[in-house]
Amino acid sequence: MNLPPETRRQKAVRLCSTGRVLVHADTPTIAVATVEGDHGTYTVSISAPDRYTCTCDWARYGRASERPCSHVLALAHATQRYVRDPHD
Ligand SMILES: [Zn+2]
Repeated sequence: MNLPPETRRQKAVRLCSTGRVLVHADTPTIAVATVEGDHGTYTVSISAPDRYTCTCDWARYGRASERPCSHVLALAHATQRYVRDPHD
């Protein structure tokens, strides 16, 4: 699976708009949320534009270091944070 950025971003907006992003913390230093994705529920955190974690397979295989997954983008959208996406 190699989704184009538009699809990940659109999915992120969809996850937010359908109430599947549960934000636990939103402070100046970190945002943490549980995100109910299409294939599972994941724990996501963002501490800087290029520092984020997610428990989904996409992130587990290291691809999150290249570009954020839709769950990270969903949390970024929900908390109005910027995450760096090399494909923007
Ligand atoms: Zn993810």
